[in-house]
Amino acid sequence: VTKTYQRGGWFGARAVVKAVHAADFTLNKGETLGLVGESGSGKSTLARCVVRLVEPERGEILFHGADLRPLSRQGWLPYRKRIQMVFQDPYASLNPRRSVGRAITEGPVTHGVPPAEARARALELLRLVRLDESAMERFPHEFSGGQRQRIGLARALAMQPELLIADEPVSALDVSVQAQVLDLLAEIRQRLGLTMLFITHDLRVAAQICDRIAVMQHGAIVEQGPTAEVFGAPKHPYTRALLDSIP
Ligand code: ATP
Ligand code: MG
Repeated sequence: VTKTYQRGGWFGARAVVKAVHAADFTLNKGETLGLVGESGSGKSTLARCVVRLVEPERGEILFHGADLRPLSRQGWLPYRKRIQMVFQDPYASLNPRRSVGRAITEGPVTHGVPPAEARARALELLRLVRLDESAMERFPHEFSGGQRQRIGLARALAMQPELLIADEPVSALDVSVQAQVLDLLAEIRQRLGLTMLFITHDLRVAAQICDRIAVMQHGAIVEQGPTAEVFGAPKHPYTRALLDSIP
């Protein structure tokens, strides 16, 4: 996939940013792939291409062999349910004016799940992310950052996706809450057999949760393989530099 951004500058000066350049990786069913790389390397852009928040100029995004890239908005709809994304800032997916209950049930209801069933599913998910039933009637601002992150996760899981894309889901949280959310993700992944694309710049977090790793530098994937291989015997100089930078 290739994606460039055009940036309009002052007095007509324009800049072209090659955010993702011919980035190529494979995510196998049931596995968790860690997409790592430093800030600005293009990780979020690549993830956003998959869920159509960003439209790449070139490339293929194959999902069970079907190319998602040329699909129209209408053609993309069936995939919206199957591919869910949680964001670094959970406010990006939670509307402050909608109750948590509505946030978790609205997706399934639009996709034809009867409201009563969507509600039952929401209550079960709240239990799974260790929040009280009373959260249903409350609003996002009444929760802590870690709790909001878990609500965002429940909202994504309510769609029963095949693929979950998690963009820095724990980076904004303190270390103890990070550990809780990571444990929770590991448990959910096991229980639901989820396939996950896990984006992080924290190599320790990646090592903890990912089966395979793809390393991104300046918009390209420079190395990918099983976690133990990539972190144990890195082939690319950039991967070695990344690993050396861990204190
Ligand atoms: P981080 O770890 O900080 O989240 P990242 O690897 O997710 O970084 P991206 O957000 O994909 O990086 O950004 C890649 C490049 O594209 C950066 O140079 C960034 O400034 C640029 N960029 C991202 N979004 C836009 C946009 N909407 N308009 C213009 N440039 C953008
Ligand atoms: Mg990012």
